[in-house]
Amino acid sequence: MNTQKKNRVLLLDDDQFMLEYVSELLRELGVHKIWVAQDGATGLAVIKDMKRDIDLLICDIEMPGMDGIEFLRNIAVQGYSGNIVLFSGLDRQLLKAAERFAKASGLCVTGTLSKPVTLNALTAILMEIPQRQPAVKVKRSEDNALVSVKEVKNALSNDDFCVFYQPKVAIRNSRITGFECLARWPHKKRGFISPDKFIPVVEEYDLIDQFTLMIFRKSVQQLAQWLNMGFDLKAAVNLSMENLNRHDLPEVFEEVTRAAHVPANKIILEITESKIGKDIALCLDILTRFRLKGFGLAIDDFGTGYASMETLNNLPFTELKIDRTFVNAAVSDSSSRAIVESSVNLGKEFGLNIVAEGVENQAEWDLVAKLGCTEVQGYFISKPLPHDEFSQLNGLST
Ligand code: C2E
Ligand code: CA
Ligand code: CA
Repeated sequence: MNTQKKNRVLLLDDDQFMLEYVSELLRELGVHKIWVAQDGATGLAVIKDMKRDIDLLICDIEMPGMDGIEFLRNIAVQGYSGNIVLFSGLDRQLLKAAERFAKASGLCVTGTLSKPVTLNALTAILMEIPQRQPAVKVKRSEDNALVSVKEVKNALSNDDFCVFYQPKVAIRNSRITGFECLARWPHKKRGFISPDKFIPVVEEYDLIDQFTLMIFRKSVQQLAQWLNMGFDLKAAVNLSMENLNRHDLPEVFEEVTRAAHVPANKIILEITESKIGKDIALCLDILTRFRLKGFGLAIDDFGTGYASMETLNNLPFTELKIDRTFVNAAVSDSSSRAIVESSVNLGKEFGLNIVAEGVENQAEWDLVAKLGCTEVQGYFISKPLPHDEFSQLNGLST
């Protein structure tokens, strides 16, 4: 198989027999270069020197000393950007948990292999790599074209940022209940830059208070227009955890809504679960006062964080948004389906509105409806739209 000649593989396993056996299979499959490491420290040393040359890392999760998870955490910090296949004799649930961890750390996991490794399974894994790698590389080099803080500051002072609106739809009657407000940066050379590229810069350089307030103002003004036109909608605005460091935030937001004559209960503030918990007392203080003023509070990207139950118990949420990775996987993967199902049950337990994010097709809609979600957001309904296109959506046009 000629494509595999290009592959250079690092194999990490504490079991000498496995190293020899899998190396032999890889050679049989025409792999061009194989490094082997019997422990995490050796693996890290190889990655440190060779990270640009390694096409694929095959990593055992279960190792004495530095285990697979610790190893993955380390290579994520080192910026390893090659493909990774995780393998283990452990049960599939643990392998999946490790895969989720690796992906959440920004690593590129191409697949998982259960022991005993077979020639067929290894062939399938290798076949994936030449197809994926160019895509990943192109995406990364474009994506990583960092936005500079200077550009962000300029864009802020020129008022270049705008807001796109993505509808949320009630499963019960397919009607639009509201929309999520998503920041966009129309850039002269690069088109619309996605928030993932500039929010980290905004946060890093203490511009997030100014940024959030600007997006909030624009979103509230747009909502006011639609409410005035007689459309009963709610607007959801994303907050960054870094915003929750000033006690007067609820008052500042209340002032904006009051000036626009928008009732606070038409606004939902979304907070990402994985970031909650740094300073729980301050979060509680601010979020509780938001609720007292009538704002709704959504826990965003639910399922990707860790302290789910505790967080829900402690903080006064009104809505739970199930992360799209679980929604997308649930149709074909029973453990993702179980995560969606238990998130729905948990949400219901706490009396929350439950939104399935990232619904992309009928099968996903049907499944989340069956599992008890109340609302759906995703490309199946519509991508985020500029305000004029949102106004044209069915049921909104006058
Ligand atoms: P998020 O809050 O989870 O927003 C949903 C993201 O999923 C949006 O990406 C949306 O375009 C995308 N999405 C919606 N439906 C689908 C679907 O069916 N399939 C797929 N593949 N994707 C879908 P976007 O707009 O790029 O925003 C990315 C993240 O940036 C947001 O994730 C949010 O965390 C953050 N963000 C966006 N606007 C703001 C903002 O004004 N302030 C803050 N602090 N963060 C923001
Ligand atoms: Ca959100
Ligand atoms: Ca989300």
